[in-house]
Amino acid sequence: MSDALRIEGLSVYGQGQYDFGRQNADERESNDPLSGQQNTAASGARGYEVISQVNLSLRAGKVLGLVGETGCGKTTLINSILGLLPASLSVASGRILIDPEEQPVDLLQLNNRQRAAYLGLRIGYVPQDVRSGLNPLMSARQTVREGAKRKRDRKHQRSAITQRTDDALRRAGLSDDFLRSDADRRPGRLSGGQCQRVLIAQAIVNEPSVLLLDEPTASLDPTSRHQVLETIRRLADDGAAVCLVTHDLAAIASMVDSVAVMYLGRLVEIGSADQVLRHSRHPYTRGLLGCVPRLDEKRTLQPINGEAPVSGNGLTGCRFYPRCPLRQIQCEVDEPQLSKAQLEHQVACHVAE
Ligand code: SF4
Repeated sequence: MSDALRIEGLSVYGQGQYDFGRQNADERESNDPLSGQQNTAASGARGYEVISQVNLSLRAGKVLGLVGETGCGKTTLINSILGLLPASLSVASGRILIDPEEQPVDLLQLNNRQRAAYLGLRIGYVPQDVRSGLNPLMSARQTVREGAKRKRDRKHQRSAITQRTDDALRRAGLSDDFLRSDADRRPGRLSGGQCQRVLIAQAIVNEPSVLLLDEPTASLDPTSRHQVLETIRRLADDGAAVCLVTHDLAAIASMVDSVAVMYLGRLVEIGSADQVLRHSRHPYTRGLLGCVPRLDEKRTLQPINGEAPVSGNGLTGCRFYPRCPLRQIQCEVDEPQLSKAQLEHQVACHVAE
């Protein structure tokens, strides 16, 4: 399977007191590429580091789980791809290539109007907040239909759009009963799981090659969560390159192909799901896994010491040093890089290498 999207050396910096873990809707709106407005973020003097030197590939037919604590930079990474960074953040360096192996286009070189030609068409996006992601005045079917209208081809006829809309609702896991009885209801009369699947239907209606999902199961009950994850897996099996941002390590363990772990804007471990979730080597990944309750094993949950700082500025050496149970003197001064020895399972840690 080939890469559908490749991120190379991406670094993002922030200005002022912006808390990148809590980007608000107003800021996102002010940079909406669909409005055609340019992102006017300052690119001069560097402020605090939000994302540093991230390299990552999304492969066709595969699901990548992107995990880490709140504020580690996961959502900023997704928003960098989408061109939805708030004005207080700016990309300092790097490339984000769509179709890197065929006809690479660097999304970071496009203005917002050019980038809009990719969003919703080649790149599907499901936002974190289910309810605010939907227009409360539009029914489920209208919402997906509006997305379908963006694809202008010879099938841009009323009947073809209706067909594609209903197909997308079905592929998102909504039943024929839903299409008959509930699809013309507004979000306020749908369950959280139904709303989530409507958002997924909107994201996939134009059959994008890349699908980005930001915490798609965060507000769902276990049954809905399981169904939505099964739907996401099916979409990858149909050929989409999927990036699933999540805190929910237990839920994704059986459905992702690979996992990338972020801490303070850096990738600290990346490998197959089996390598990272069952044979993790980085102390931070092990800490995250130690917080996950399990039904098959009685054990005491072990929270990670302390809290992640808002930014890595001022820290030397390993960013995880202040919280790490395995830290050594070298770690305080010498920043570990992702190991090159095992390309399939890379770890940024002096002790774990
Ligand atoms: S490099 Fe050192 S401080 Fe950092 S995670 Fe590894 S052992 Fe811990």
